[in-house]
Amino acid sequence: MSKKAIIIGAGIGGLSSALRLLHNGYEVEIYEKENSIGGRVNIIETENFTFDLTASILMMPDVYKELFSYVNKNYEDYLEFIEIDPIYRVFSGGGHFIDFNTSISKLTKNLEAISKDDSLGYFKFISDVYEKYLIANKYFLEKSQDTPKDFFNLTTLSKAFKIHTLSTSYDFISDYIKNENIREYLAFQSMYVGISPYEGPNIYTLIPVVSQLYGLWHLKGGMYSFVNAISQLIVEFGGIINTGATVEEIIFLNDRAIGIRTSQAIEKADIIVCNADFPYAMKNLIKDEHYKNDYTDNKLSELKYSCSTFIIYLGLRKKYPQLTVHNIYLGENFKNNIESAFEGNLPESPTLYIYCPSRIDDSMAKNEGECLNIMLRVPNLFFNKITWDDVTINKLSNKIIMELKKIKGLEDIEENIVYKNHLTPLDMERRFNAYGGTAFGLSTTLTQTNYFRPHFKSDKANNLFFVGNSLHPGPGVSLVLNSSKLVTEEILIESQNKD
Ligand SMILES: Cc1cc2nc3c(=O)[nH]c(=O)nc-3n(C[C@H](O)[C@H](O)[C@H](O)COP(=O)(O)OP(=O)(O)OC[C@H]3O[C@@H](n4cnc5c(N)ncnc54)[C@H](O)[C@@H]3O)c2cc1C
Repeated sequence: MSKKAIIIGAGIGGLSSALRLLHNGYEVEIYEKENSIGGRVNIIETENFTFDLTASILMMPDVYKELFSYVNKNYEDYLEFIEIDPIYRVFSGGGHFIDFNTSISKLTKNLEAISKDDSLGYFKFISDVYEKYLIANKYFLEKSQDTPKDFFNLTTLSKAFKIHTLSTSYDFISDYIKNENIREYLAFQSMYVGISPYEGPNIYTLIPVVSQLYGLWHLKGGMYSFVNAISQLIVEFGGIINTGATVEEIIFLNDRAIGIRTSQAIEKADIIVCNADFPYAMKNLIKDEHYKNDYTDNKLSELKYSCSTFIIYLGLRKKYPQLTVHNIYLGENFKNNIESAFEGNLPESPTLYIYCPSRIDDSMAKNEGECLNIMLRVPNLFFNKITWDDVTINKLSNKIIMELKKIKGLEDIEENIVYKNHLTPLDMERRFNAYGGTAFGLSTTLTQTNYFRPHFKSDKANNLFFVGNSLHPGPGVSLVLNSSKLVTEEILIESQNKD
């Protein structure tokens, strides 16, 4: 008889784990509190516009494709990947921009237009960080770090020492590059995991380097096409997805997780995989202190958490060819406005990430206009300094639109808005139980990575596993997909040991 797995949460971590377990013969039932699946990778659909709710930057497409080959399917039957060029357009004051193209000759020309020293510095930076990436990928990102021997062995420790050099991202980048705009473009990307480039370890310089070397991709129809494809396969493989089904408690008996309690019923299973944000789950779904192990309420309050994001979604009635798919607008006083997200304040002159998929995908703006997500990193709710009410939201939205209008060619953007919406840290908390309304869960500081991050397998209860962005290897769709691969391996090993 096949074993039954209950999965709490239909985020990328829950859905991809469900598919892998179904492929391995498990009977799978998912419980998702929201009425839609995908978690933070979600969608806003209007008559004319499709907006990706949060994630928009698709790095490492092979990791997405691997999920399909894992279950013996051809990804091309489900998804259309489109390569993006330039990967970024970076706007700075006075209407200037730099394109970061995929073609080396175009990129060299753009960088040399700034200075030959910076061009050389950029390529040296890419080459040095590429070496780190190859090590990180082989020894950390694709490997479990659940047990002491996974991390505390000579090879892994020496590799960790090699990649985790201690300077901050910004200082590390500055050793290679003099131009402030290029520095800020590279440094800004550590905010993609919610870490300050002025504080966090320089390992996050991997993000711009992986984007430059392996490219950035767009899925036709947006990121949610991926969620649709996985859910289609889950149903095809016999999995059950319950939406609008909030789990209230994980039930234990004699050091084993035996089921869950929803408001409707108690459901039993052989294993439980929890995809709800790890710190939220520890605080709310595990009631007995014994099973929390190290993650008591006190300990949770001592951990470090990533920042959050405020997003406005704009549907526009006309095209803006000045934009490309991924744009970064560098606000004045970059350092201050980045640091404000980690000090509990809103920035004076925000640096913005502007996503405009309709530049290459007409299906996302059917009115021959554009759909824009404009994202600003903001403090998480633990700072308790900002009230996310209509006054704050309107003030911040207006400030963002004022900044946008400073981009040459976007001066008339305000009068061409036909749809407007927003997402705040409070929405992130209310909708997805994102602990503290963070965008990326537990921060990936040195003391919260690898073996020091929460483990896939509960240290106290058999049959209880965790998956998602507060686990190893960290936030981002591709890393969460890695996390589902690693947790599935753990589940299969444990199951073999018991049989
Ligand atoms: C603003 C923003 C921008 C981002 N941009 C990018 C990007 O460009 N590229 C990229 O790769 N990544 C990006 N990310 C990160 C990426 O979206 C996340 O790392 C990833 O989606 C997290 O998936 P997850 O499965 O860990 O968690 P989640 O998406 O949080 O899923 C957890 C699920 O559990 C459900 N749940 C919670 N509690 C319960 C309960 N009690 N009962 C039942 N269900 C429950 C939630 O509703 C949710 O559906 C971004 C994230 C944010 C917030």
